[in-house]
Parts: sequence; structure tokens; C-alpha cells
Amino acid sequence: MTDFVLATANAHKAEEMRAVLEPLGIRLRARPDDVAEVDETETTLEGNALLKAYALVRATGFAAIADDTGLFVDALDGAPGVYSARYAGERASYDENVEKLLTELLGVATPARGARFRTVIAVAYPNGESFCVEGVLEGSIAEQRRGTGGFGYDPVFIPNETPERTLAELSPAQKNDVSHRGRALRAVANRLAKEYVHVPFTFSVER
Ligand code: IMP
Repeated sequence: MTDFVLATANAHKAEEMRAVLEPLGIRLRARPDDVAEVDETETTLEGNALLKAYALVRATGFAAIADDTGLFVDALDGAPGVYSARYAGERASYDENVEKLLTELLGVATPARGARFRTVIAVAYPNGESFCVEGVLEGSIAEQRRGTGGFGYDPVFIPNETPERTLAELSPAQKNDVSHRGRALRAVANRLAKEYVHVPFTFSVER
């Protein structure tokens, strides 16, 4: 067993990561409660993911895994991007962020509503080494919210793979199959499998 500590305190994300990484013989330790939240002060997803991973390495002495996600909208020159969580303000709710996005895109016709989710997962080691992998989901922004599943911008994001449905209209398994986070997780699993598992083992990254 190889131990990694997770930087996320989000139980749902931790569960997704466990499902993919524990079969490789990687034990994921929960983020200790006494480690302070890290301010995401970098201007890239990679920078923030590494910031969070190294903070956990320093606090625990274990290798650490951290992720950072953003929604990049073409018609808004890539906004909200790295600032997706606080698009409508520092403590904005998911609904307030979605409302602001729909307002900014009022009058923008469908062909120009292209967007993508990007997730970067950073792995950092106590010896100072690290690597990042990325998962991308291409799609477009709907004109109105649809569906009740998922979280965040899911009700207005239509993946190219499911042109009739938003992410919030997919089951968790369907979302995980196509999603930015699912893809990044499978990429990190493949990378770690090469380092820690000495039997043939691959996850399909592209579906
Ligand atoms: P985080 O870096 O994973 O916390 O993501 C930053 C923000 O992006 C979140 O607050 C959500 O608004 C949004 N986000 C991240 N992942 C998803 C997703 O899978 N669906 C919809 N929104 C997401």
C-alpha cells in the first residue's frame, strides 16, 4: 500500500477519487481537520492545484493529491476560468454564479456559446517532485437551467457528447464517464499505476 493524502475536504470528490485509485493499491488519507484552507492565489489551475498539494505535503509529510477545476467560456474570453467558484462574488452560491453566467451571455447565439471544463490534478511528493494531469470536457452553455443532478454549473453545461442533455440531466455514472474530473482521474490513475503497480493496468482516458 502506498499512502497519499487528499487535499480536498469535499466528501463527494474524495469518494470519486477513492473509487478509481484504491484498486491500484493506493491508500487515500482524508485531509486532516486541523490543516488550514489554502488561499487559491495563483492565476492558473495548475498553480492552484500545486499550491494545495504542497500545503498538504508540508502539513503531513505524505505525498498529496489536489485538484482544481474551472469553466472557460469562449464568448467571455475564457471567463470565469480560474475564478469559477467566486464568479459572482467571494462567497457566491452555485445559483448566483450560474445566474451571472446566463446574464453575461444574454443575446449570445448558440454557435458562440462554446465552453469547456478543465480539471487539473496535481500530485506532489515530500522530496519536492510533482506532476500534473488534465481532463477536459468540451461543450456549450445552455440558455436556461435544465436538470437537477450534479452541482455548480452542471444545469447549464451541455457536453458535446450529449447534445440533448445538460450535465445535470445525466446520472452520476454517465457524468463521470465523460467529465473533466473523470478524465483527469483516469489520467492520474494511469500515471500512478505505472509507478506503483507492476501488472498491466489501464483506465480508458478517452471514451
Ligand atoms: P473546484 O476547483 O473543483 O472547487 O471548482 C471550482 C468551481 O467550478 C466550483 O465552485 C463549481 O462552481 C465549478 N465546478 C467544478 N467542477 C464542476 C462540475 O463538475 N460541474 C459543474 N461545476 C463545476
